Amino acid sequence: MAGSKKKSGEVSGFDLVRAVGHTRAQQAPSASSKPPEEEPHKTETTKGGARVRKTALPTKHEILCYECGYRFFSAGRAGTLYCPKCRTILESTDYRFDADCREPVKTTGTVTISENGVVEGALVIGSRVYLDGTLGEGARIQGYVQVEIGPHARFDFKQVETPKLIIGEGTSIRKKRMQHDHIEVAGELTGEIHVTGLLTIRATGCVRGSVTTPRMTMEEGGGLVADICLGVEDTPAEMAS
Ligand SMILES: [Zn+2]
Repeated sequence: MAGSKKKSGEVSGFDLVRAVGHTRAQQAPSASSKPPEEEPHKTETTKGGARVRKTALPTKHEILCYECGYRFFSAGRAGTLYCPKCRTILESTDYRFDADCREPVKTTGTVTISENGVVEGALVIGSRVYLDGTLGEGARIQGYVQVEIGPHARFDFKQVETPKLIIGEGTSIRKKRMQHDHIEVAGELTGEIHVTGLLTIRATGCVRGSVTTPRMTMEEGGGLVADICLGVEDTPAEMAS
């Protein structure tokens, strides 16, 4: 990432859009005849502030079309969500699994796999995935914005794909070597940690071992006991294996 617009100590932008997750399209897909040609609900901000309403601001958030892989931004309002590229109607339902799940799930909403949830032989795709349950044989999860690991999660990192891995509060992970674009630690993380973007250590978090990251932000109260290589690009060459 070229632009270093991160202000140290600031809350990450992901938090800002967290509230948007609830919006779901209760679409009768037939209701709207045509896919919108442009982004829906482009709010024109009148300078006079005449359109102030009680509704939440339509924060733009990133959508990944799980069919064609195209990334775009949506205002996050209710309504049918189309991929502007392949025109697939994208589901935005939030899911929660408290028991076995054997069916693949594709959504632009959030997915929660709770302590008693078990994914078996299926691919689960969501924008944000919270994993506190078990990924069984052949299961994979993809959180295209983030994946948060809870304290009861049982899985292998090979089963998890995301640009931003969050070690949740109360979660303790020990791994010999780990590499991710962004890692956020609110629990405990021990190992040889390679980050290519931003490492965030929350007030409840602690990192031990060795850390290589170009950028890091740390809240007061967070712990760090590690050999640190900060502010340099990691060498991707040796990651190959
Ligand atoms: Zn698409």
